[in-house]
Amino acid sequence: MKYCFGVDLGGTTVKMGVFTENGENISKWEIKTRTENAGEAILPDIAASILEKIDELELVKDDVLGVGIGIPAPVTADGCIPGAVNLGWGPRSIKNDLEALCGLNVAVGNDADVAALGEMWLGGGKGAKNMLMVTLGTGVGGGIIEAGQPVTGGHGGGGEIGHITVNYDETETCGCGRKGCLEMYTSATGIARLARRRLAKDDKATVLRSFEVVTAKEVFDAVKTGDAVAVEIAEEFGLILGRALANIAATCDPAVFVIGGGVSKAGEVLLDFIRKPFKEHAYYVNVNTEFALAELGNDAGICGAAKLILGKC
Ligand code: ZN
Repeated sequence: MKYCFGVDLGGTTVKMGVFTENGENISKWEIKTRTENAGEAILPDIAASILEKIDELELVKDDVLGVGIGIPAPVTADGCIPGAVNLGWGPRSIKNDLEALCGLNVAVGNDADVAALGEMWLGGGKGAKNMLMVTLGTGVGGGIIEAGQPVTGGHGGGGEIGHITVNYDETETCGCGRKGCLEMYTSATGIARLARRRLAKDDKATVLRSFEVVTAKEVFDAVKTGDAVAVEIAEEFGLILGRALANIAATCDPAVFVIGGGVSKAGEVLLDFIRKPFKEHAYYVNVNTEFALAELGNDAGICGAAKLILGKC
């Protein structure tokens, strides 16, 4: 039996897992991401933890097919990044650096692409070879899987759907410095923005007025109780996201959209709000594209990272 490692590198923790070549997860743990001193300890910490685990499982390096790792940055096909702001890193080759540290074959991907690969392999997109994962969290992430492989693009920026412009009249600025990005309306903070603007529009009664700050969770909780204003906000969210996904479908024609991230905890009701405007705006070839909720939660990253290795075996 051969094994591989899946590593999901985040700004506060590194999630790690060991998988058999059949996709069974036999060990899972976390270490802290030490970002001080320009993140110089991060890769050595990861390498040390991998080598420790190989000893603990009484394996030898020949039993290990390799290490897959997801990075919160654009990643080129040869495993390089232009930098990663929340890790303190400048431009570097993650593949070369981590291979030198651990003496194992390393495959590198963007974290959103890697999570998409995990959902395709073992989660909400199981069985699909062409899918698009939309992660609705603090921001909006995207991962396109084409013929079973992530689309990295020419600059490592493939699938960054959060920064498609959906409103050319916006006056506030997105985290990327531009205005009117999809992320500004459909991330958790984006839904809070829609709620804030809707509540400021008139005095219509709603349970949402009882909160000092309205979050996405409160909006969808209120939707489930039939609150009319919350339903309006959810409809606006669904219209913006559904239209954007209709445009994306005309470009990459996924078999299924997998919706994940913190906002997706709202459940099936979320998909209903997206599906209807999607169908109304989709090109006829794409009209019946399926929607599914992500299933792997925080494990999508380690699963997909392992698949980066196994997919090439
Ligand atoms: Zn943006």
